[in-house]
Amino acid sequence: MATIQWFPGHMAKAIRQLEENLHVVDIVFELVDARIPQSSRNPEIERIIKDKPHLIIMTKSDLADPEQTKNWIKSFKKGGLPAIAVDSKANITTKTITHITQDILGDKLVHEEQKGLKERPIRAITVGIPNVGKSTLLNRLVNKRAAQVGDRPGVTKGQQWLRSSSKLQLLDTPGILWPKFEDEETGQALALTGAIKDQRFASDDVALYALKFFRRYYPQALITRYKLSEADFALSDVDLLLKLTKQFGMKDDYERASNRLILDVRKGKLGRYTLNRMGADDLE
Ligand code: GDP
Repeated sequence: MATIQWFPGHMAKAIRQLEENLHVVDIVFELVDARIPQSSRNPEIERIIKDKPHLIIMTKSDLADPEQTKNWIKSFKKGGLPAIAVDSKANITTKTITHITQDILGDKLVHEEQKGLKERPIRAITVGIPNVGKSTLLNRLVNKRAAQVGDRPGVTKGQQWLRSSSKLQLLDTPGILWPKFEDEETGQALALTGAIKDQRFASDDVALYALKFFRRYYPQALITRYKLSEADFALSDVDLLLKLTKQFGMKDDYERASNRLILDVRKGKLGRYTLNRMGADDLE
């Protein structure tokens, strides 16, 4: 999708729209990228959705380190947030998401039943930063044959409820929030995964960040992909980038080489990885 430049006006509008939509949903599905579960979260989200029930859906888990994904799910749960990981390109799981949602809303649904209210579908909205996988998940969750439920009171004009299962409906318009750039590493993590495609970060900086990161956490992936020797591993990050530039046949065009490296990482050519680390120790 096109890059969105976020100005304060856009942010205010996005928040307003989301706040309006919150009135008509039972639960928020907050999407985060499983490779950057921290960097892909918007800092305002908790404040905006307040005590609305909330499920974290970690998208692109097929690209993330499975061990790390487990740790992150535990960490979210520890913080009182239920979380699940999905691969929207493969095994999507309307049933699982419906069940988890019913579990989260348990008391509320029972309460309605006790008051004699008729059973009704749960209504949810997906929320997340651009490119996190909102449309992909929505398309997957929605039964295309009978997608549109039609006009319902409470829904802003032009918006629709889409039927996921008989028990779950989704608002067709996701809530879009901006990513935060709290520090340099957050920005680099967002850039490396392709969450942001603007030119805010120089590609050589992002490539150096990638080299440093993979050397530390997934050295074998780097060695295998670029056929590196032990001697190469003794090089500084900058020298290693220069070596790769030559190896790619790009002479001294390290910017082009940086882009190649970044693309390899994004496409998973260096295997699965999680940039925001969650150690098992942090969960004790
Ligand atoms: P949105 O901007 O949040 O609606 O994001 P999109 O749904 O357009 O997805 C952005 C990109 O991520 C697209 O290229 C999708 O194919 C890709 N994508 C979304 N979900 C997944 C996933 O679970 N796994 C993988 N590998 N790619 C995904």
